[in-house]
Amino acid sequence: MAGNRTFTMLKPDAVEKGHIGAILDQINASGFRIVAMKLTQMTKADAETFYAVHKERPFFGELVEFMTRGPIVAAILEKDNAVEDFRTLIGATNPEDAAEGTIRKKYASSVGENAVHGSDSDENAAIEGAFHFAGREMF
Ligand code: UDP
Repeated sequence: MAGNRTFTMLKPDAVEKGHIGAILDQINASGFRIVAMKLTQMTKADAETFYAVHKERPFFGELVEFMTRGPIVAAILEKDNAVEDFRTLIGATNPEDAAEGTIRKKYASSVGENAVHGSDSDENAAIEGAFHFAGREMF
């Protein structure tokens, strides 16, 4: 059965460009409830752990550099079928391939600096949410 929570980060590029409000508006308008949220900055160790699955990929160093260069907005979102619906809302990893109207189509500038993260499974949503938030920070 599909779960009802996912985890997102508005990445440093989106925060730098002042897109926090517009992206959160689109997330809310698409039926997601914010369960937890904060502005925070990942350390190198945080980013290396969070993206450990990609550590052998050629873009890993650049990804860690990018994700640690400034603050992010981390949030847990709730909606029926949250993981899949949120991946649809954000669009493909590469904004050139993302559907019109998706968050990445509108706000991402490249496959690396792609504005927003969305968990890819219920299991990862739970792991990633717990990485950033304590139980008492979830509402
Ligand atoms: N990424 C990158 N170059 C690539 C593929 C991915 O820099 O060729 C970065 C990008 O920021 C992406 C993240 O690594 O969001 C994680 O990649 P994944 O394939 O898991 O994409 P996602 O699940 O974020 O769509």
